[in-house]
Amino acid sequence: MSEYKGVLVYCEAAEGKLSSIATELLGAGSHLAGELGQDLSAVIIGSNVSGLAQEAIAYGAKKVYIVDDPLLKDYLTDSYLTVMEKVVQQSMPQIILLGQTQIGRDLTPRLAFRLNTAATMDCIGLEIDPTSKRMLQTKPVYGGNAQVIQFCEADPQIATVRSKAMAALAKDDSHQGEVVNITVSIDPATIRMKVLDRKIEEAAGIKLEDARVIVSGGRGIGGTEGFKQLEELAETLKGAVGASRPPCDNKWVPDSLQIGLTGKIVSPDLYIAVALSGSSQHLSGCSGSKVIVAMNKDPEANIFKVAHYGIVGDWKKALPAFTAKCKELVG
Ligand SMILES: Cc1cc2nc3c(=O)[nH]c(=O)nc-3n(C[C@H](O)[C@H](O)[C@H](O)COP(=O)(O)OP(=O)(O)OC[C@H]3O[C@@H](n4cnc5c(N)ncnc54)[C@H](O)[C@@H]3O)c2cc1C
Repeated sequence: MSEYKGVLVYCEAAEGKLSSIATELLGAGSHLAGELGQDLSAVIIGSNVSGLAQEAIAYGAKKVYIVDDPLLKDYLTDSYLTVMEKVVQQSMPQIILLGQTQIGRDLTPRLAFRLNTAATMDCIGLEIDPTSKRMLQTKPVYGGNAQVIQFCEADPQIATVRSKAMAALAKDDSHQGEVVNITVSIDPATIRMKVLDRKIEEAAGIKLEDARVIVSGGRGIGGTEGFKQLEELAETLKGAVGASRPPCDNKWVPDSLQIGLTGKIVSPDLYIAVALSGSSQHLSGCSGSKVIVAMNKDPEANIFKVAHYGIVGDWKKALPAFTAKCKELVG
C-alpha cells in the first residue's frame, strides 16, 4: 500500500487573507478527500501568515501547516520550493493541489520534478476514479477546443486548478482543526532572486478574475466610445469589462483586459461577448464561463457554437435595448 495519504492544498495568501483560489482549492480538495475517505490539509507559506490557519480550517482543512518566516515575505522560487518539498516530506499527501496562478505555474513543475512525480497543469475538473482510486484530471487542450482526462501513476499526484473552475465550501467558523508550525531553515545565500520593486496593477471596480459577470468586446466594437457602452452594461450587472486581443492591440482598452490564450483566463457565471468572433485563442480564456451570451451580426460567427444564448444583429442597436432591460430588471 502507498505510504502517501490525504489531500494537501497550497493556499496562496494576499493582503492578510486567503486568496479566492485557495478557498476554491479547499472546496475541491475536500470533495476528493471525502471520496477517498482521507483528510484534507492545507499549507500556508509567508511572513505573518499564522493568523490565516483558522480561515483555512473554516473552509474545510482538518490540518494546516504554517511556515511563517520573514524570509518568505515575497514569493521566490528557491525558498518556496525548498519549503514545499519539506512540507510534503513531512505530510506525505497522496494528492497536492495548487492554483493555476503565477505562483502555481512557477512552483508546480519544479515541485513535481523534485518529488519524482508528474503534474497536470490547468485542470478544470478533478474526481476520484471509483475503481483505481486515482485522481482523474480534466484539462482543456488545443486552445480550449477539446478536453483531455488523464491520471498520474506516481504519488503524490499533483494538479493545478484554474481559477473559478471549482466552488469553495461555505465558510464555517465553528470548524475545528489542527495547526502545525513547521520551521524550515533557509540559507539566504541559496536564494538566487531578489524582489526589487512591486507594482500593483490598478483596476477600477471589480477585478476581471474575480468578476461574476464579464462584458467583453471585440474588434467589432470599433473604438473607445463603444467600450463606454460596455462599461455601462458591466456596471449595471456589477461586473467587469474584458476584451479580445484587437481592442487591446489598438489601445482602445488596456492590455490587462485581454482574455484568452495570451491574456487572462476567466470563468464568470455570465460572459457577454459583444462583437467578437470567438476565435479558439479567445475561447481558451473564457470557455469555462457558466453561461455565455453572444451578440454578433454574423450568424455564422464561431462564438454562437459555444454560446448558450445569442443575439444576431448589430450591437449598436441591440446593446442599448439590452442594457435598458437589464437596468429595469436589476432596478
Ligand atoms: C499565438 C496567438 C495568441 C492569441 N491570443 C489571443 C488572446 O489571448 N485573446 C484573443 O482574443 N485573441 C488572441 N489571439 C488573436 C485571435 O486569433 C483572434 O484574431 C482574435 O481573438 C479576434 O478578435 P475578435 O473576435 O475581436 O475579432 P474578429 O475575429 O475580427 O471578429 C470581430 C467580430 O465582430 C463582429 N462584428 C463586427 N461589427 C459588428 C457589429 N456592428 N455588431 C455585431 N457584431 C459585429 C463580426 O461579425 C466578427 O465576428 C491570438 C492569436 C495568436 C496567433
